[in-house]
Amino acid sequence: DYYMKYCTSCGSAVILRVPEGDDRERFVCTACELIHYSNPRISVGSVTVYEERVLLCRRAIEPRRNRWTQPAGFKDNGETTPEGAARETWEEARARVSNLELYRVFDVPYISQVYMFYRCDLEDGAFGVGPESLETALYREDEIPWSENACPVVQQTLEDNFADMRDGRFPVRVSAIERTPRRP
Ligand code: ZN
Repeated sequence: DYYMKYCTSCGSAVILRVPEGDDRERFVCTACELIHYSNPRISVGSVTVYEERVLLCRRAIEPRRNRWTQPAGFKDNGETTPEGAARETWEEARARVSNLELYRVFDVPYISQVYMFYRCDLEDGAFGVGPESLETALYREDEIPWSENACPVVQQTLEDNFADMRDGRFPVRVSAIERTPRRP
């Protein structure tokens, strides 16, 4: 969970207390009284499609190294969410995308993250391998390495995508991912 010891403004110690008018504990500076709010982070990613195939990356970095994922990462300041999804797709798979449409939103409260995936087209069918990927590939549904997916968000997004491709329509869905108990 979120934890801090020192004020990011003046460097003094912080304590956990409920500020006046608030209803939950925050880290508050004992010297300058700055309240340090912690809010969820937004991850943006793409479901990049080319000729019924989806672009996936095998991660070169932890966490979940060697696992497969759609291009995704934290949204940067100064960019919109579709711009972030396109940037991540370029960085991880050297792919240029167009026609981005919001497709899938996930709340993952136990890691304080929100994921936003955009469906989009791969321009010219061209892609490569970015520095955070070991390899990249365009997969049909029956070619997906299902047992090597990085996380439930990846799994659910791919399942929805291929089901929706059979229906020919792509409604935006919002759902939550709950913590799954760790296997012994
Ligand atoms: Zn302070």
